Amino acid sequence: MFSKVGVTEKGAVCLGKYVACDAFEETRPLRVVTHAHSDHLLGLRQSLMQCDISVMTPATRDLIDVLLGPLFLMMGNVKSLDYDEPFAFGDETLELHYADHILGTAQVLVKDAEETRILYTSDFRIRGTPVIEADTLVIEATYGSPSRVRKFGERVEDLLVSLVETGLKQGPVFVFSYHGKLQETMQVLHEAGVKVPFVMPEKVFHVSKICERYGMRLGRSLLSTSEQGKAILEDGGPCVAFYHIGSRKRVGEGAFRVSVSGWEFASACRQVGDREYVLALSDHSDFNGLLQYVEQSKPKLVVTDNSRVGDAEALAREIQKRLGINAVALPPS
Ligand SMILES: [Zn+2]
Repeated sequence: MFSKVGVTEKGAVCLGKYVACDAFEETRPLRVVTHAHSDHLLGLRQSLMQCDISVMTPATRDLIDVLLGPLFLMMGNVKSLDYDEPFAFGDETLELHYADHILGTAQVLVKDAEETRILYTSDFRIRGTPVIEADTLVIEATYGSPSRVRKFGERVEDLLVSLVETGLKQGPVFVFSYHGKLQETMQVLHEAGVKVPFVMPEKVFHVSKICERYGMRLGRSLLSTSEQGKAILEDGGPCVAFYHIGSRKRVGEGAFRVSVSGWEFASACRQVGDREYVLALSDHSDFNGLLQYVEQSKPKLVVTDNSRVGDAEALAREIQKRLGINAVALPPS
């Protein structure tokens, strides 16, 4: 069974004979990109130049065009594959299935000539992710430690809205997070009726436009470099400014600030400064969600991804202990 699945030191999740997901692996002719987060785009340049085909959903393709530039994917032979659409390669079949994470995220199912079903979940939040039955399951392990359980309910969204509304009474509110989650935050605020303009730098703006193209509703967005955007920020008028978490130290100093992060477990909202908060809105399953997926997928073997940030060894141990299913963390530490 082990020959059908593996995770390399460089982070390639290998399924069946041909597929390597989320990192370059020279022995594999098919590269799959499960989503546009940078820890899943490893070695993509090499894959584009050396693999036969690089496969991704149309939304992931559009997001990569924005994040890495429109010429980047032209280096290779890229196939856009819709969710649930089978793609035959050699004696195996590949399918992408929806995952609730960022726009375009896919779980990857490979069915081999012996009808073995091999599945990689990629990153997912259990809430909106369909569980796929598999013989061998490779699962992400971001919150793989049993201590990574969120005890608060799912109404973090309400908390986000009231926090932003409080901040808006004092002027602009700065929100910091990752691509994808920034847009989810915009959607939550827009749906809750927050009517002020949303101001953002170019990359965040373009990612937002892709999200809107695929049906998300994000409200009125302005470029921070446009005349109007600049004027609003300089006047300190009510607006919500959305920046990548990497800009946190550079922009919005002294303003009302909210960082949206998954790495929060004790409480849904934590005050970290005079007018600064961290809010726990995650696009990953917590420990219980990971176990729930494994249980419902009914695999005979589970591999936990030990190449990315998380607790793969603890997760493998707990799957073995609590569910009685054979589990191993790969690559070994
Ligand atoms: Zn991700």
